[in-house]
Amino acid sequence: MAQDTDATAAARARHERLAAADHRHLWHPFTQMQEWLAEDPIVVDSGDGVFLVDTLGRRSLDGVSSLWCNVHGHRVPEIDAAIVAQLGRIAHTTLLGLASTASIECAEELIRIAPAGLTRVFFSDAGATAAEIAIKMAYQHFQLRGDVERKEFVAIRGGYHGDTIGSVSVGGIDLFHRTFKPLLFPVRHAPQPHCYRCPLGKAWPDCAMACADEVEKVFEAHAGKVAALVIEPLVQGADGMIVQPEGYLRRMREICDRHGALLVCDEVATGFGRTGTMFAVEQEGVRPDILTVGKGLTGGYLPLAATLTTEEVFASFLGPFESRRTFFHGHTFTGNPLACAAATASMRLLRDRRILEGLPAKEAALARALEPLAAHPHVGEIRRRGLMVGIELVRERGTKEEYAFELRAGHQVTLEARRRGAILRPLGNVVVLMPPLAMTEAQLGDLGRITVASIEAAVARL
Ligand code: PLP
Repeated sequence: MAQDTDATAAARARHERLAAADHRHLWHPFTQMQEWLAEDPIVVDSGDGVFLVDTLGRRSLDGVSSLWCNVHGHRVPEIDAAIVAQLGRIAHTTLLGLASTASIECAEELIRIAPAGLTRVFFSDAGATAAEIAIKMAYQHFQLRGDVERKEFVAIRGGYHGDTIGSVSVGGIDLFHRTFKPLLFPVRHAPQPHCYRCPLGKAWPDCAMACADEVEKVFEAHAGKVAALVIEPLVQGADGMIVQPEGYLRRMREICDRHGALLVCDEVATGFGRTGTMFAVEQEGVRPDILTVGKGLTGGYLPLAATLTTEEVFASFLGPFESRRTFFHGHTFTGNPLACAAATASMRLLRDRRILEGLPAKEAALARALEPLAAHPHVGEIRRRGLMVGIELVRERGTKEEYAFELRAGHQVTLEARRRGAILRPLGNVVVLMPPLAMTEAQLGDLGRITVASIEAAVARL
């Protein structure tokens, strides 16, 4: 007993030292640091399957997959072993002027599972860099083909593609992006396909997808000038899990085809089984010209992203050295072997463990656990595609009145969830659930029940 107390005291002392050092030196992303500095942080010390373990020894379900990227859980023997084996060979070598075993094997594995027609892989390190590459690739593709007026990009309001200047330009989340507007290149934004809060004031299905017509109008107004439409397929994640009506993505493909533009699908969040199929585009039978992936590519282990494209786009860049048709883009850690080894192992696990086959039962388990919220007076809508869930909290269900920004309704729910053993991270008033695909049905049930109890406790105080 005395030993236990000593151990607890030692853990507490260690936690306090680390928390103080965090407060002294770190600047956390997307975080109001003034508030952060006033709070005692959870300091994650280790992972164990789908649980995060903090410095005080508390175990919490990783309810948002460590920012939407974890697939198989933490400390997965097969991925750990692949990284260790790669470490025994080399940790990093460049793809500028050299090839590497790990990047070749990773690209092969990726193309094997990618939507048909995508055969070329350009590696980078983050979802944002994958988007930058997609934008520059689409732009240069048309320049090289002599279609020099195609310089413009169309994107969808509420979209999110990362935080670099190019990816913010095609992004459309006011709260995140407004400040930087003077730094961005102009992008034509079309209204969001948001059935719960339709920007056109219409209702699905009577609207006949008027939001898709709006996209086409943007193309018509800029005929012959659009290089690409950049879109998150099926679900706009960061704006609050906005699920598109069936057929919307197909319409986007048709519009791009009619207007000679490329379709860039950002599957950084939706890729690798997250929406129930390996890639979201499969559900609408859509073949993008460019596809970006990140997050779950390495199973959520290491920073690696990729921009995939077709032979047609690739061919535009071919020519003799002196033609300068080269794609002048790259990063120091492009195709990092450790990350590639993790990605290859993760993609093999997706296949070997038949992860996709198990998803319908898991989705059902989570949906069942969330059922008590279906008619809750402070839940406006539960949006779900695969294991991507957004629960929109509202002050009043009938009027859809929103909770005031400063109430931090979503944040209050996450604080309640922590007390109950789950780590969540909200998007404004939307409570997000993005569990690792490896979570069992029982664990998903627990996550759902914790979420219900946390919402009930939080809204009772708002
Ligand atoms: N694209 C989408 C759809 C995303 O959801 C995200 C991140 O949430 C990104 C791009 C940016 O990825 P990263 O944070 O790795 O730059």
